[in-house]
Amino acid sequence: MGISGIKSGFFVVFYAMIIAFHPADCSPALCAFNANMHDRRSGDCSAGMAYRVQYYDLYMALDTLALIHQPGLNKAVFPISGRVDMHLATTGMNQAAIKQRPRSVLDFDAGPQLVIDSLFVDQQQMAFRHHKSRVQVDLESYVRKNVNAPCILTVFFHARLIPAVKPPWEDGVVVSSDDRGRPWIGMTCQTSGASAWWPCMDRLSTEPDSVRLTFDLPQNGTVLVTNGQQAPAERLPDGRMRYRALVSYPINLYNITFNIAHYESFTLPYRDSEGKDQSLEFHMLEGGEEQAKAYFTEAQTMMEGFEQVFGPYAFWRDGYKLVETPYWGMEHQSCVAYGNHLKRNKYGFDFILVHESAHEWWGNAVSACRPHDLWIHEGLATWSESRLLEWRYPDSSLYIDYMVGLRDRIHNKQPVAAKKGTHKRQLDTDVYYKAAWMWHGIRHSMPSKSRFDEALRQFYQQYTYKNLDTRALTNFWCAQLGASYAGIFDHYLYRKHLPVLVCDKIGIDSEGVYTLKTHLRRVSRSFQMGIDFGGGHFIPQSRKKTMVRVRGDLENFSANLQRKYLMDVQLKNH
Ligand SMILES: [Zn+2]
Repeated sequence: MGISGIKSGFFVVFYAMIIAFHPADCSPALCAFNANMHDRRSGDCSAGMAYRVQYYDLYMALDTLALIHQPGLNKAVFPISGRVDMHLATTGMNQAAIKQRPRSVLDFDAGPQLVIDSLFVDQQQMAFRHHKSRVQVDLESYVRKNVNAPCILTVFFHARLIPAVKPPWEDGVVVSSDDRGRPWIGMTCQTSGASAWWPCMDRLSTEPDSVRLTFDLPQNGTVLVTNGQQAPAERLPDGRMRYRALVSYPINLYNITFNIAHYESFTLPYRDSEGKDQSLEFHMLEGGEEQAKAYFTEAQTMMEGFEQVFGPYAFWRDGYKLVETPYWGMEHQSCVAYGNHLKRNKYGFDFILVHESAHEWWGNAVSACRPHDLWIHEGLATWSESRLLEWRYPDSSLYIDYMVGLRDRIHNKQPVAAKKGTHKRQLDTDVYYKAAWMWHGIRHSMPSKSRFDEALRQFYQQYTYKNLDTRALTNFWCAQLGASYAGIFDHYLYRKHLPVLVCDKIGIDSEGVYTLKTHLRRVSRSFQMGIDFGGGHFIPQSRKKTMVRVRGDLENFSANLQRKYLMDVQLKNH
């Protein structure tokens, strides 16, 4: 079934509702924020902004013919022009600020490659200053007349985008071609930010409630696939095609994308965790449909697994789409980018399908506030890969084997999370693997895995459609698991070294049972982590020795601990 036949009736009804609702108103790691990530003027989730955008209405004309007619695709530029309406609401902070000072400045983000043609506040043209990536509008005259009133900021813009060098890491508009030399174009902007291609308030800490997307492009046989509920394409009087869609949930702006190619589309049926019949949509380059239809039955199993392990998929109203892209992948909400060429890894699953889809739970539904909180997205999405293995093959060792493979990639060169005031730093892959291992170890430290699993589902439920920072996360988990977990989170998130469990053999009895004197190094006194080693349970301390009796080979004892807990084990005198 083509996309235009899917849910179109529902789209019309829901679209009308939204308008009425806004009256004024990598094997390595993937997902690309590896270095020099756009800062997006990050701040606390709860503070720092005078206005928030409730709703974006983005229109853009994409001149794909101008691009592909130029020789040397990767050296071409991609002409775009458009308009965005930002439906702004003042925040409490702004009201206080207005009382204290009569002047008020509204600012938003627009990359230096964007040209702002004109700007209006409630249809009143305003002067503005565009310097580097920041646009400032003096609202003094406006706020005097409209204190606390919501308003609509309209920005007209154009740009000639330079194609991405190495997407999805060095990102932007992606210009490629299919096997027949026909255009294959996309957008991915986690590193550069949405403001690299349209004006917006480009912050991780707040998301709009919904976004309307309209793209016009020449009719040359290609189709466009974007986020959310997509309406049937319309032919314009000038011959171009118009594609409209509505994202009806909060969305990180870097997730907004478009994909243009000669796509074939199909759906696979899926019954969700609440028993409702849903469709999973797939958009693959022409010629690959039959093979892909058989291959992506894996996605049906994956969705069932994630829903059972974590909780219901959060975006059914907008659907689940997977779109073939010329780059490896990205977690574009309800429009997951896939460029893994139908390849499964040695564990039998498609890494890109699973990792990027896991971000629908961890990253898109539950979202971080700041770049240095992105370990929340990546650690849980990475751990989701192995949790899916565990769910699918509960009696095998695949889960633990997979985790052991990830452990070899941990660097311990810098903390996973950064404290406040250290926004700008290079993130490394420990936000994937070490963060995943932290969750793995904490789960093993619990007397009952099912209690941890229930807490994880509650965490998902509580923060779906919300942004949180590292502190909010640790507060939640300490409330669930106990205050003693504060020291564990503190160590794994804010210290770079692993704990060292020192096990000093002091004797062996006639039945081959060793007595070990244990203590922890490189941790603070507050690190209190329960250790289960099959034959018993103990909580090693940093300031005193704990005696442990172990039956069997000590090398096995050490190896088994390091398969379950993120700590080094040092055997002495054995
Ligand atoms: Zn990721």
